[in-house]
Formats: sequence, C-alpha cells, structure tokens
Amino acid sequence: MTEVADQFTEERSGEVTRIAHWIDGQRVEGTSGRSGPVYNPATGEQTGEVDFASVEELGTAVQAARRAFASWRTVSLSRRTELFFRIRELVHDHSEDLARILTLEHGKVLSDAKGEVARGIEVIEFCCGIPELLKGGYSEQASTGIDVYSIRQPLGVVGGITPFNFPAMVPMWMWAPAIACGNAFVLKPSEKDPSASMYTAELLKEAGLPDGVFNVVHGDKVAVDAVLEHPEIAAVSFVGSTPIARYVYETGTKKGKRVQALGGAKNHMIVLPDADIDMAADAAVSAGYGSAGERCMAVSMLVCVGHAADDLVDAIKERLPKVKVGNGLEPDSEMGPLVTREHRDKVASYIDKGAEEGAKVVTDGRETAPDANGFFLGVTLLDEVTPEMDVYKDEIFGPVLGITRVDTYEEAVRLVNENPYGNGVAIFTRDGGVARQFQFEVNTGMVGVNVPIPVPVAYYSFGGWKSSLFGDLHIYGPEGIQFYTQGKVVTSRWPDPATSKVDLGFPQTR
Ligand code: NAD
Repeated sequence: MTEVADQFTEERSGEVTRIAHWIDGQRVEGTSGRSGPVYNPATGEQTGEVDFASVEELGTAVQAARRAFASWRTVSLSRRTELFFRIRELVHDHSEDLARILTLEHGKVLSDAKGEVARGIEVIEFCCGIPELLKGGYSEQASTGIDVYSIRQPLGVVGGITPFNFPAMVPMWMWAPAIACGNAFVLKPSEKDPSASMYTAELLKEAGLPDGVFNVVHGDKVAVDAVLEHPEIAAVSFVGSTPIARYVYETGTKKGKRVQALGGAKNHMIVLPDADIDMAADAAVSAGYGSAGERCMAVSMLVCVGHAADDLVDAIKERLPKVKVGNGLEPDSEMGPLVTREHRDKVASYIDKGAEEGAKVVTDGRETAPDANGFFLGVTLLDEVTPEMDVYKDEIFGPVLGITRVDTYEEAVRLVNENPYGNGVAIFTRDGGVARQFQFEVNTGMVGVNVPIPVPVAYYSFGGWKSSLFGDLHIYGPEGIQFYTQGKVVTSRWPDPATSKVDLGFPQTR
C-alpha cells in the first residue's frame, strides 16, 4: 500500500504535493481553481496544496454517495460486520503510517498520534457489533392478531465536517457509525491537515467498501456551505469551534437537516486540598500541554482550592523544565509545534495579554521554544488568573495553562457551572463523597474523577453541554447510532377471514 502512503508518510523537503478529493472510490483533482497550503508545522515548510471544492464538486460527491446508498443500504448486516472487521484490521495494520501522516501535517508527537488512531479504532470496533446495535423491538399480539415491531433505518447521504486537531479520530467518530448504519458519507476534513482522510479512503477501498459509500471533499467555507445547503444531505455532524458549530447547527437545521455540532471548550480541573498533589501535577501537565494544548478536552484552567494552589504550582514548576519540545518525529519529543504560524502567534499573544490583565507569568513559553523554523511555543503557566480576564474566558487552544485560586469547593463548582462551555471537567480529591456530589451537580457533559481527560470509551457517547454542543445527540456510541438512523414502527396483521370486517372507528388495542 499505497500511493497516498508513499506520498505523505515521508518527510520531504522542497516538494509540494497536490491533495485532491476522493469521490466514487477514486482520487479526483479539483477544478475550482481554488486551493490552500498545508504545512509541516515542525519545519515551517509547505508540503502540500489542497484543492478546495466548488458547490458543483460537492454536488458530484453527493450524487456518487446517493447512487452508492441505494445498494449499500441493502447489504446484509452480516456482510457489513465482516467488512467492518476487515476495516478494523487494515486501519490497525497501517496505524503507524496513519500516525506519521498526522505528525507531519498536524505536528503532534508520534506517540500521541498513535494514541489518536488507537482511540479512533475503538469506534470502528464498536461498529463491528452493528447487528446488535440496530436491533429493534417486537411485541407479539399487541392487539388480537396484530404484531408491532420497531426498526431503525439509515438516513441516506450524511455529511461530516471536522477540525484540524484530530484529523483521523474525529472523522472515525462519524464515518464508522454512519456507514455501519447503512448511510453513504461525504467528509469535509480540515483544510489544515487533509491527508489522513485520503489515506483512510484508500484503506476503506482496500477493505472492500463499495465505491461512493465514503467520499472526501476538501475545502473551506464554500464547501461547508455547500454541504449545509445540499438538499440530498440528510444529516450533518460537525466538530470544531463554537462560533462555527452554532452557524452549522442553525444553517443546517433551517434547511431541514438533522445536525449535531460539537463546539469548543474551556475545561477546568479542580484540585481540592486533600488531593494527591503529585498525581494532580502529573495530570495537569499531561492534560494541559499534551498535543500542545490543541485538544478540545485539554485542561486549560486549574481551579485550586485553599492550600492546594501553592503545593500544585510548586509541583508543576518542578515538572515543566523536563517537558521536551521538538519535532514530533523525534522519539524523545513530548510536545510538538502548533498547527500554523498564525495560530502559534495568536496563542503567544495571550501571554502578554495575561500579564496586562494582572495574571502572574510563572513560565513564559516564548523563552523556551526551540530555536527552529517550525511553529513552536514552549509551555506557559499563568497563576492568579481571575474569571474576568480574557485568558480565562477565551479558548486559547495552545500550551497555556492558567491557575485560579479559590477558598472553597462551592466557589470552584460555581466557576465551572457559570462558564459558557461545558465539555469536560475533572476533580482531584481523595474524598469519594465530594467526588460523588461533584458529578451530581456539575454542568458539563464529561466528568473525570482523578482522571484529567475523560474522553468516554467507544460504547458510551461523547459530547459536551451548553456552548460545547448544539443538537440533541452526542457523537459515537449508542447516541451516534441513533443520530445516523431513523426509527420506524410497523403494525402488522396477516389475513384471517374469521376476523375480517369493516370498522370505521379509530383502531383500538383492546
Ligand atoms: P474550526 O471551527 O475553525 O474548523 C472546523 C471546520 O469548520 C473545518 O473543517 C473548517 O474548514 C470549517 N470552517 C472554518 N471556518 C468556517 C466558516 N467560517 N464557515 C464554515 N466552515 C468553517 O475549528 P478548528 O480550528 O479546525 O478546530 C479547533 C476547534 O475545534 C476548537 O475550538 C476545539 O475545541 C474544537 N473541537 C471540539 C471538539 C469536541 O468534541 N467538542 C473536538 C475537537 C475539536
């Protein structure tokens, strides 16, 4: 395997690869005349130029998907299961290549990229159980001679729009359940790191997925709007920042589509005075700076109660100089660069902003960034951050961790519950009673107890509350199956001459 693997898994210098669409089982070069650059964030070099689709090109992909859907929905559950086992094996066997592609375009370190692929594979594994997941209910003799049963059917052509920070896993959250349920899928991945989707497309073809069931259309707002406007796309899954999630939800639902739109986050980690401080410090450093803070479940605010603050700051300060920042392909790198130069500069600007607003800059990541052309920034720790500051309010999405000091547990919970986001939250304590009370009263969708990044396993569903999710259903897991199917209830009677009569009354069950 494969052309794409060869194209994208090698670190190249001075070569710019054209990244085309994937429609009806093959690579299709764009004709819109619009495209965008793709960089290796560790070197700062442009390595790719990705085609941006026009409305017509998106339409071509939807037509291919519509044709494929007609036969794909008739494929038996046992054949679909067999295929999903094959997909699982192929993705697993090529996970090193896939991870390398992620590192080369996103910048995250290879070990983290492998972790991303592994968490995505879990969703494919969940979909191997699709016959069980699509089982309906059956009521015999609901009325005399009448049986009632429920089934779930696919929606048709469904679309997915994904962010830059998990270029393999987040698409897997969508395409795996959507296709397993019998839909055909059109993916619009992030234009910043689009190659993982092309590689996935080749793997799916090699596994035997019929052409047209999985399509990739690259682009920017033009392609996103085309997905939202297309009358034959029945549902859209979106993952990205909150303003775009809101826009996608409002526009898509106005067009009559089913939409789940997952947005941004400001995740808090509460540390109580009785917490295991070493455990909390390890967790804070991993969850704050892993993947350079470019995770929707990254911890960005530590809320320390009482004396936990001084203890934790000391413990974190001790750990920070050891965080090795560098090219994600180097085995000893623990944190890679940010995705683009603009994003790195924006994140760095929050360090000055924090200082101007009155926060204490304990560690300034600009001083420890490697001296290289890549989009690097070292780790930053801001203490004495208060809720009115922009560094508290904004999703910075970089390696900048803030500390807020409060006196009581109640104050800490209030801060979390008053925050407009509600994606993930964690509490560190040795007190089981307090932890239980916390999970009961906190207003976020995913809660960790002494676990900093509580991304649910694939057989639960992922999703936040408040401005972190627009829509009714969370993504993957049981709610993912519900999202990509619609229910139908059949009431049936077989001819029985003995009971045959005309009755104009409303059907009764007794
Ligand atoms: P983004 O919102 O900029 O982009 C997401 C997608 O929307 C991309 O495909 C992009 O091409 C498209 N897009 C961008 N601007 C658009 C516009 N004006 N109109 C229409 N479409 C547009 O997000 P990003 O920077 O790629 O990813 C980071 C964000 O995603 C963060 O806010 C992060 O918290 C969030 N995220 C959330 C989750 C979650 O599960 N809640 C998971 C991962 C990332």
